[in-house]
Amino acid sequence: MIGTKFRALAQRSKGRDLNDLELAHVYLGLYDGQLAACAAHYLHHERISSNEFKSRLFAHLSDPNFVDDVARFITDPSHTFEPDRLVEKWIWWSEEFLDRATIEVDLANDVHQARDRLREWDEHRHDGLNQCTQWITEFGSSRRCVNRVAAEESCKAHRPE
Ligand SMILES: [Zn+2]
Repeated sequence: MIGTKFRALAQRSKGRDLNDLELAHVYLGLYDGQLAACAAHYLHHERISSNEFKSRLFAHLSDPNFVDDVARFITDPSHTFEPDRLVEKWIWWSEEFLDRATIEVDLANDVHQARDRLREWDEHRHDGLNQCTQWITEFGSSRRCVNRVAAEESCKAHRPE
């Protein structure tokens, strides 16, 4: 059920999907690994990669209706999350759990080079830094900022003015 929220977030721009996901994550005590496996299953079905999911999540931030919708559906006053923080949290969560879960789904489906990607993923973890969650549009195409940032720090390239 909650796994379908990942699919919804990839396919439409409704802030309430992100709220539902956040609240379920906080209150239902789901294991991250289980949640990621479930999400990977739904995304695989729609042929949406983990990176594509993250970039669509980020893109929602430029939709004012999405941002308003996140704010409107916060039903718990102890949770004063800002939409951009929430998007950032879920991009990093995806990096920590969903990336690997999607490789495992590929492995189960005999996707070419899935085993190599899994090995690579396991070898390249964890320097304690997160990749910046901004996408930059240049020359008509969009790419993820490659800077890595420590928790509680902001990217040099996107420091607020
Ligand atoms: Zn950056």
